[in-house]
Amino acid sequence: MNPDTSNNQTNPTKRPFAEIDKPATINCMVVAIDHSNLYYTVCSVCEKTLSDPSPNTHFPNSSLPFCKYCNFNNNGFFNPAPSGSKRLFRVLISIATDKKVVVVIMFDRAARVLFGCSADEFFDFAKTHPFAAAAAGRALEGEMLKVTLSQPKNGNARHLRVVSVLPLRTGFQPVIETLRELYRAKGE
Ligand SMILES: [Zn+2]
Repeated sequence: MNPDTSNNQTNPTKRPFAEIDKPATINCMVVAIDHSNLYYTVCSVCEKTLSDPSPNTHFPNSSLPFCKYCNFNNNGFFNPAPSGSKRLFRVLISIATDKKVVVVIMFDRAARVLFGCSADEFFDFAKTHPFAAAAAGRALEGEMLKVTLSQPKNGNARHLRVVSVLPLRTGFQPVIETLRELYRAKGE
């Protein structure tokens, strides 16, 4: 995101949107979500991001999720739990403010408010309803939200981060409930 320098010159007291350095709360509308990539996988113990257990990753011989922090791997250190991993939401979401459209990133705690379930629950739902993620995107489009945005702590991160979210519409219901109703009506 490039700061709008021309705007700076005409209005020097106003700071570019991209340079929020402390949390800012705004009202906005959901334009779209990137429904192709809603989650990431973490260690269920320490919640650190796991490498993808699929082939062609850093650990091509590992069929289990590998947590280098907890020493769970295939060499005799088995996770006592059936699965050493779980999913957390990480959703890219385009929001329109009164000035512009920006892409922000929403992590698990905020995303659960909109989805109404955990990422694992949504993943399981999507296994039997293959278009659930796209339908979730459509369900959220146009929703008015009050969001608190902050600059990412990680300097490499590109997107402002949604710290908290509050749906503004009376009668808002979480995505998972909308989808359950939708699929129930269709008899699926
Ligand atoms: Zn771990």
